[in-house]
Amino acid sequence: MELTLDERAFLAHHGIPLSAVFDASGLSKSEWRERARAEGKPVIIGSPCARGGHRLRTRSGHCVQCDSSKLAYHRRHGKPGWVYVAGSLRGKVVKIGSTENVRDRERSLCAEAYAGLDDWEMLFHLYLPNAGEVELRALALLGAAGAGLAYAKEGRSQKASEVRRCSTAEALQAIYDALDGARIEGDPWLSKRNGLYDWRPPR
Ligand SMILES: [Zn+2]
Repeated sequence: MELTLDERAFLAHHGIPLSAVFDASGLSKSEWRERARAEGKPVIIGSPCARGGHRLRTRSGHCVQCDSSKLAYHRRHGKPGWVYVAGSLRGKVVKIGSTENVRDRERSLCAEAYAGLDDWEMLFHLYLPNAGEVELRALALLGAAGAGLAYAKEGRSQKASEVRRCSTAEALQAIYDALDGARIEGDPWLSKRNGLYDWRPPR
């Protein structure tokens, strides 16, 4: 089903990639509910709503254009988002994380000086229906090397539990191993600078 300009603008505004929209045309409500859930897609495009003739709905059938708070609710509970790898050359570490807003994440990591470092750059990201789960599994697979790097934040000692002393390649391998059959939505993005992080980790 073709999306209108208005629909595309609405999705872009809410940070929903087109790949997260399930095309419900020709399917009954029970069919699209089940299939959109199985594919981890939080939004469907289907029949127009009674109030405004909008076609974008949550998986429970609420019009997200009439009430975009429905969208926030469903996104939180469906937990789609980006799993990412960021790196700090100064710290010689990478960080695996997940976020609903990958565009702002590099800036916010630097601004908050995560792990006491302010030169974070985005190296890789991938949109997934279960980004948070994959993040946690990947961190577990990487083990504890470099984990818990202590740093001071607002005068208090913090531990950076998402940081690892490993190369980009090792972090990516852990993410792909952690997918465990999860559906990949959209194309993974990899920074051309990822090779700068391929030092040999200390053993
Ligand atoms: Zn509507």
